Amino acid sequence: MSRLTKLSRSIKGHIVLITGAASGMGKATAQLFSDEGAITIVTDLDKKAVNDVVQEINSNGNKADGFVLDVSDERSVSSALSEILEKYTNLDILINNAGIAISTSIDSDDYEIFWDKTHDVLLKGQVRLIRACLPSLKKSTFPRIVNISSTEGLGASPKHSPYTSAKHGVIGLTRSLAVELGSLGITVNCICPGPINTAMTEKIPQKDKEIYSKRRVPLKRYGEPEEVAHATLNFCLPSSSFITGSVLQVDGGLTVKRA
Ligand code: NAD
Repeated sequence: MSRLTKLSRSIKGHIVLITGAASGMGKATAQLFSDEGAITIVTDLDKKAVNDVVQEINSNGNKADGFVLDVSDERSVSSALSEILEKYTNLDILINNAGIAISTSIDSDDYEIFWDKTHDVLLKGQVRLIRACLPSLKKSTFPRIVNISSTEGLGASPKHSPYTSAKHGVIGLTRSLAVELGSLGITVNCICPGPINTAMTEKIPQKDKEIYSKRRVPLKRYGEPEEVAHATLNFCLPSSSFITGSVLQVDGGLTVKRA
């Protein structure tokens, strides 16, 4: 077999859609992909927050565009996608990142409400986006899907069962679609971030973060959103053409630590 000498590590000109991209890891991913020359479609719930990110990216001379897209609302997904595809005939990369975290115990009166809401955003939201983007991804030369799960997709913390089960579901979805879409050349991979400094964790007191990190994380700290964004980028490179169905922890070693 001859050497593959033309495996590219550039995503320049590729069109990437990122959900939940107005904050945290989604925003860091939008910024990184733009820095790498991609045309970045920033989507999130709030128009102003989306526009702020787009403006920031474009003011650096990179290319981004923004759309309001609620992953839990079928109509919002289809109307945003038709607007996006009218402007950009194709998509190459989908990053399913949008997320919420609601803590609730199994005997809470509102448990089923939280269960439904959590699954609607975290798991069905990813399914909605994949289904909506699929016709376009099929036409791409380097089609990539990256689903953001969590270390909660590999283990469990108390009072998080809706979140934990949805994140386990994201891993199952990733593996299943990697198998199903492989013949189309579409890769489907998954990132499991550990504790990361974003809006989702900002209410946790710094002292508690330090105690937790010291006890549980071999690298002794929370991660930064950019560190997750780089892992996501790796899955999306044209040269990552034989990586599919992978589940990558970006967690400072949290998952492998036993005691
Ligand atoms: P974040 O709160 O900073 O960002 C989440 C973004 O998702 C927000 O901009 C929010 O508006 C958006 N969003 C929420 N509901 C949405 C909906 N229905 N439609 C579209 N957008 C919606 O949090 P983050 O930490 O950057 O989270 C990104 C992803 O990483 C999530 O899937 C989260 O579950 C996952 N995650 C986070 C951590 C962590 O420690 N921060 C750890 C593991 C996994």
